[in-house]
Formats: sequence, C-alpha cells, structure tokens
Amino acid sequence: MRAQRRIQLGERLAAAGVDALLVTRRVNVRWLTGFTGSAGTCLVHSDGSCLLVTDGRYAEQAAEEAAGVELVVDRTRSWLPGRVGGGRLGVESHDLPWDVALQLASELGEDRIVPAPRHVETLRQTKDTEELALIQQACAATSAAFDALLGWLRPGMTEVEAARQLRGEVEARAPEGLAFDTILASGPNSARPHHRPGPRVLERGDLVKVDFGARVGGYCADMTRMVALGLPDPELRRVYDIVREAQEAGVGAARPGVTAGAVDAVCRDVIDAAGYGDRFVHGTGHGLGLEVHEQPILARGAAATLTAHMTVTVEPGIYLPGVGGVRIEDVVVVLPSDPEPLTTVTTELIVL
Ligand code: ZN
Ligand code: ZN
Repeated sequence: MRAQRRIQLGERLAAAGVDALLVTRRVNVRWLTGFTGSAGTCLVHSDGSCLLVTDGRYAEQAAEEAAGVELVVDRTRSWLPGRVGGGRLGVESHDLPWDVALQLASELGEDRIVPAPRHVETLRQTKDTEELALIQQACAATSAAFDALLGWLRPGMTEVEAARQLRGEVEARAPEGLAFDTILASGPNSARPHHRPGPRVLERGDLVKVDFGARVGGYCADMTRMVALGLPDPELRRVYDIVREAQEAGVGAARPGVTAGAVDAVCRDVIDAAGYGDRFVHGTGHGLGLEVHEQPILARGAAATLTAHMTVTVEPGIYLPGVGGVRIEDVVVVLPSDPEPLTTVTTELIVL
C-alpha cells in the first residue's frame, strides 16, 4: 500500500516538474513510510523511490516500521546534495521553516529549490482499504464509548468529570485513546462550538454536547451527539430537529463529483430556510484520517470535488448564545453508491 502511495506521489511530482520532494511534515512521512518517530524526513523521487532519514535514536524503530524503504541514519543534511543530483528539489513550503529553506537554498543553489506544498495532503484525501478499515475501527470504538456514556451520564456530574470518564470508555476500547481533546458542553455552554469541559455541574433539563473521537492505528474518528437530561428548552428542541434535517441532507449529498462547497450549501440551505442561518457559525465539515482535520474542508464556496473513498465529517450546528447549541456530526465515507456513515449512533434526540 505504501509503495503504491510513493509511486502516486512520484507521478504528481513528475507532472509538476519536480525531481524529488523533501517530505518534512511528520504525518506525511508516516503516511509514506510507516515511520512514526518524531525525527524523520524522507526524500521521494519522481520514479517513486524513497529514502528515509533519521538519527541514531530512531534507527531501529525506523528499520522496523519502514521495512522496504532505504534508511539513512544521519543527523545532518550531508546526504542530500548527492541524492538530489542536478535535479529540482521540491520542499513542503507549507511546513518547512523559512530559515531551513534559506539554508537549503544556500547548500543546493537557489534555483534548485521549488515550493511544492500539499502534494501528500492531496493524495491523503483518498483512503485505501487499510486506512478505511482503521477509520472504521476508530469510529466503532467511538460509537461504543458513547453508548457506554449513556449508561452513566447524569445530573450532578461536572463537565470535567464526565469528559474524564468518557476518556476511560474510549481507552478501554481503543488503546491509543482520544484523537483530540473532548468537547463536552452542558446547558448554555453548548452554545460555544468549541467549549472546553469545565466545572459546571450538569443539571436536569440540560442539553449536553459531546464531541470526541478515538484513534486506532493512528487514524481518527470524530463524532458529535447531543444528550438531553430530561426535556430540553422548547426552542432548542426545535433547533435540534432543524440541525438533524440539515445533517441528514448533508450526509446524503456527500457523493463523488459533488464539490465540498455544495455539501456545505445543502446543510446551510436547510438552516437558512428555518431562519437560523446566522447561527450556523462554522463550516459543514472536514476530511479526516491520520489528522482529525484534513483536506477537503467542507465550507462555503469550497471548490474541492469529492471522490470515492474520501472520509469527511458532516457537522452542521446552530448556536444560541446564552441558551445553548446543537451540533450533530458523523464521519462518512464517500462511495460510488450511497454515502456510508461510519459513526453509527442514532441521530434521534437521546433523552435520559
Ligand atoms: Zn467533532
Ligand atoms: Zn469535526
């Protein structure tokens, strides 16, 4: 699978007139070689051949994780000029520090270094079967942890306590634990899209927003559900149904050939028509994989076109300051047939 990824990257580089790409973003090095250490760079040539460079601390780990990839153990960049030859070296200009870029230019010659941003990120948008299986497992662990939460979430707990207990449920099902810091927001706090769990005590009548995900084999899940502790405020109850309708429409729209902006528009139209357009204060979703937020971004006007085997979230929301907010989020695989949600918890309002 990884050799195939490197060949695909090589083809892109050739098309862009780049002879080799110096891959410095850690997540991209992992995706291309399997190496998970914190110090590593790889050089991928346009013919797909690849060299992984790390230092002595990681030599053994790199040899094991990146089996089949040529390994160079070197703390310096003395290996680089000989490997690039007379060709043009692309750099991940969205990641490489400016001072390193200047050093490279002085070492290799200014006209030999070209910015080559986001080639790997673009390829990473489309998942292979191995990746889809890991994301599916992360989503299954997330759904199961949420089901467990429904057994113990109750008024009287603080947000922090509930988030901590949920973390335990995730770790029990996915040893790598959480993919990102859990958002658990109760009552009026749910009006903040990215609230950090705090000391607020959950009360009867609260709507609780829970946004979290497990990580499996490096791959992330990301799901948001609302839990009502007793009957919620009538306006929030109405808002819930609007968000649910928008989310369902958005999931249904995530098909090959559709732009990311069009999926956003499908959600936004439902919320606009209900009169809450100005309360939907973020984009509709994002790609996810080794990172929780990846390309494509599903937002107003986004031009990227969805293709089969992309994994994206669909997560519209409505936020009423001082009252509360509602967001529903699933991870969806774009398929030639109907889009398939991987997070499997019901989107009906759960009342405990
Ligand atoms: Zn989320
Ligand atoms: Zn998300």
